[in-house]
Amino acid sequence: MPAMAIVRDIAVVLRRFEYSETSQVLVLFTRAHGKVRTLAKGMKRSTRQRFAAAVDVLDVGAVALLEQRSAADGLSTLTEWKQQRFCGGLRERLDRIHAGQYAAEVTAMLTEDWDAHPALFDALAELLSRLNDSMGVLDLVVGYQCTLLSEVGLWPRFDACVLCGRRSELTTFSALEGGAVCRHCEPSQIEKRSVPGAVIASLAAWSAAAGPPFDRPPDVRAFDVLDYHLSHAAGRPPSTGRLLRAHFEHR
Ligand SMILES: [Zn+2]
Repeated sequence: MPAMAIVRDIAVVLRRFEYSETSQVLVLFTRAHGKVRTLAKGMKRSTRQRFAAAVDVLDVGAVALLEQRSAADGLSTLTEWKQQRFCGGLRERLDRIHAGQYAAEVTAMLTEDWDAHPALFDALAELLSRLNDSMGVLDLVVGYQCTLLSEVGLWPRFDACVLCGRRSELTTFSALEGGAVCRHCEPSQIEKRSVPGAVIASLAAWSAAAGPPFDRPPDVRAFDVLDYHLSHAAGRPPSTGRLLRAHFEHR
């Protein structure tokens, strides 16, 4: 019989979907245990077990769960949910909702089950909190993209050409090569997208230590190149990317 343990942690809900008539699967991003897929039973009936009836994507709560890593379906069982924060202000503005949903989706896409990233959890909680205030959505999202890519070891090289090391004439980005490519190396690349030198320079200036916010508001093309990179790494673009990107068209 596999060992079972009760795990207590704080979590952000990344995804939520139907499992059966009376239960749902919540994909949680916990601070100390990373991404955990849990079965939340009795969420849709008005029974005494209806503890999680109001749990929604982007909510933050204290959780207790029965750890079942070796279960055939990989699902642990959620036994307790204590809401800590509703993303109140977030729900009032569509661009902020989409920013939160995008952050949740890319986090789910790029992290592994039970692989803890406390700093990334803190960045996500901070993002959701700051989306409630007046700070620019693009700044927050690009900052989170940077933190996520750094945390999962996918931060690209922007300070020099990944192929020849040249520090000038950086015109292109290759997800496969993992960074900027100069004008001279660019013709040999099949997978690439052109990126203005100023955008590459602004991303080179970012460091995980300093983190967001940026000195100057990031260019929407910084969002695009980071989204392109993480989509390539995950094997598909995030489904919320286009919704979010549409808000940036009208800045
Ligand atoms: Zn080069």
